[in-house]
Amino acid sequence: MNKFEHALHNLTAISEYKSWQMTPFTIENNVYSTNGYFLLKVPKKKVIYYEECENKKRKRKIIEYFELKTQKVYEEIKVSELKDAINKIPLVDESVDHREVNSCSKCEASGWVEWEYEEYIKEMDCPVCEGTGKMVKTRKEKTENKVIAEGYYISLNKSIFRSEIIETLINITEILKINHIDLISQTLPNKEIIFKIGVCELIIMPVIGVDEEKYLIDIKTKEKK
Ligand SMILES: [Zn+2]
Repeated sequence: MNKFEHALHNLTAISEYKSWQMTPFTIENNVYSTNGYFLLKVPKKKVIYYEECENKKRKRKIIEYFELKTQKVYEEIKVSELKDAINKIPLVDESVDHREVNSCSKCEASGWVEWEYEEYIKEMDCPVCEGTGKMVKTRKEKTENKVIAEGYYISLNKSIFRSEIIETLINITEILKINHIDLISQTLPNKEIIFKIGVCELIIMPVIGVDEEKYLIDIKTKEKK
């Protein structure tokens, strides 16, 4: 797999529910991939053959997305600036869900209990474990690792992104071995933003807004000469 194919496959959906997003597809002279958050466009001649998108409506829509440059801008962002923004997010202890399965103490793991009413006795499914005899508990367990805190956002001019989105963007630039990207379309804060990454183009959808300023980290772009 070359770097372009690698980048395309990195932005496909994993859920069967959106089966058309599970593999890159061709429309005219470009190959695209999307996972619902990103839409990547790579010139067809850079990659192996991918099947043509058969859905006419989808085809038209995807082409239109990249043509919607109503307020054309041309600004440059260094990948190192994106990394600096991520580095401003505080580190916290990583914790993972630890699943613990114990026997049910109410029914002594049998799954049933006796109910008594006057002289009548009846066996019923244990209401605590619902007849399984087992109790499943999930608790958070700290690992040795530090990870960046959740819930932080990064703003790029007027568009706001979840920090995970910027991390994915950095990852794509690393796959493509590019150290700066160009912002080529940014209209309204709630509209898609288009980057040029070498010969590729990438669309990202921002989030609408963030309630608390303290979770927001700014990146400023510079006009490209
Ligand atoms: Zn039980």
